Amino acid sequence: MTHNSCSSIDRSQQIALLKSQQWDLIIIGGGITGAGILLDAANRGMRAVLLEKKDFAWGTSSRSTKLIHGGLRYLKQLEFNLVREVGMERAIVYRNAMHLVRPEKMLLPLIDGGSLSRISSSLGLMVYDWLAGVPKEERRTMLSKEQTAEKEPLLNTRILKGGGAYFEYRTDDARLTITIIKKAIELGALALNYTEVTDFIKKDGQIVGLLVDDHIGKEKCTISAEVIVNASGPWVDKIRLLDEPNLPKRRLHLTKGVHFVLPKEKLPIQHSLYFDVPSDGRMIFCIPREDIVYIGTTDTHYNASIDEPRATKEDAAYIVAALKNMFPTLKFAINDFISSWAGLRPLIHQEGKSASAISRKDEVFKSASGLISIAGGKLTGYRKMAERVTDEVEDKLNKLKNRGKSDKRTKQLKISDSPFQSEDSLQVYVSELTSEFSTQFPNSTIKKLFFRYGPEVRQLLKGCMQYSKNHKPETALLKAEIDFGIRNEMVHTLSDFFHRRTGMVYFEHAQVQYQKQLALQHFSTIFGWNKAQEDKQLHELDALLDELISFKKSDSRQP
Ligand code: FAD
Repeated sequence: MTHNSCSSIDRSQQIALLKSQQWDLIIIGGGITGAGILLDAANRGMRAVLLEKKDFAWGTSSRSTKLIHGGLRYLKQLEFNLVREVGMERAIVYRNAMHLVRPEKMLLPLIDGGSLSRISSSLGLMVYDWLAGVPKEERRTMLSKEQTAEKEPLLNTRILKGGGAYFEYRTDDARLTITIIKKAIELGALALNYTEVTDFIKKDGQIVGLLVDDHIGKEKCTISAEVIVNASGPWVDKIRLLDEPNLPKRRLHLTKGVHFVLPKEKLPIQHSLYFDVPSDGRMIFCIPREDIVYIGTTDTHYNASIDEPRATKEDAAYIVAALKNMFPTLKFAINDFISSWAGLRPLIHQEGKSASAISRKDEVFKSASGLISIAGGKLTGYRKMAERVTDEVEDKLNKLKNRGKSDKRTKQLKISDSPFQSEDSLQVYVSELTSEFSTQFPNSTIKKLFFRYGPEVRQLLKGCMQYSKNHKPETALLKAEIDFGIRNEMVHTLSDFFHRRTGMVYFEHAQVQYQKQLALQHFSTIFGWNKAQEDKQLHELDALLDELISFKKSDSRQP
């Protein structure tokens, strides 16, 4: 195996490599924060490894609103620096991962009883564009009531006062995370899912290594490193407690946010919308995506199990009420939602603040034994957060090893090896791709896979053509996509594939039910699973599918 394998088939060599090295840096947590730090560290030439206890992006980073956005809402909290930083980062993340970060036209309807007046929203959007350095042609436009209703005829004209149109970007959070990890691996890093950090090893009061449980090989091992970063999102305090059992002060305040998925025919909107919920002054998004629309999010204090956040019936009722207020001619009921997800925001505690009022700023804190922890922040600002942490790591390594500083930074680093420099060249690439494969695949399939995998889609489509000789198109595609995930994206389980790599459990819930047996057979052939292993896999996937619709049950509660 080469150092830079991203294949699940190479697991035993990856574990051997993990144990054999003295690492410069170990990162705990394979969400967007850990992924960003791994990439920055690898880019600066550090020997870095990332350990994730479940699958990459299993935590909050697969459960966000999936927007690369500046956080218009934070202007109300006068968080100018935060809005400026994440606002500017939008364009950088887009430029470096164009196939995954797509420009999205947003419509902000202004309503009676809402929190925004015409003047405040016009001013707010102007400041928003200005802080983020948005080019002239993409700046906001304010709309009259008639213009807003013309753009989105389903809006409630009885309360509509006007609107604002502006730009954000839409992404797939889990795919962004895995794509960053793949790039870091290409640059020489090591990343392993299903490796849980269970304790620290200390010498003279300083952390020198970790105890790790390999959940696939079922063995425990010790690893040593110069610097250790705790990027475990909502679990940051748990990891800090391993280091400091008498931790004087917990730093995190977790809040839960949920999203629900509707078939597009239930809410046939033309634009992504961001609107007020008059009952509590919050704002929610409705984002159309292929055949569905997803709606969210809530923001409530959270004290239950960190491993099991769920959308409840109460959450669903809140979203239904918000939809009914905005789209009075449409009929919505809780049972119309086909799926859901719930995520936890790892926010920095601020005394006496409500869930929505707590700042989204990130913070780095260091322990006496040398652990560097990072929490807070946004998906959008991951690169800047990573830069701050990697600067700290580099300083520490310099002191320990007298190692020179690297001048490499990730601002210009393409996350996927994409040949396009602009939106126009991306569109040319897509049309060449669709004509190259047009006799074998429908355009819609090619495009969908391109926006999932980027230029690597060629490899996947060629794999599919091999299967097409003996299989129906749908089966051939499923098998080729599973092969790709196992060999190129460290897919180990059915849930890795249907959840974090493809998002199908959210957006194609029924299709997963239909394809799961076939997928199981294919996985089983590749990994050589026995009956008990097959049953476990299917049970895990079924439990996940049930969890995502558990809000429909009468006794639906947060466990
Ligand atoms: P996580 O993604 O939770 O990653 C931490 C990882 O650490 C987990 O995968 C976990 O399994 C792992 N871990 C824990 N313990 C261990 C251990 N002992 N050993 C090894 N691994 C361990 N931001 C935006 O920019 N745009 C949005 O649209 C947006 N929407 C949001 C909507 C909601 C509802 C929420 C909750 C957040 C949203 N955010 C958004 C914020 C963003 O999603 C988070 O800031 C970000 O995903 C946090 O990433 P993270 O890597 O810090 O944490």
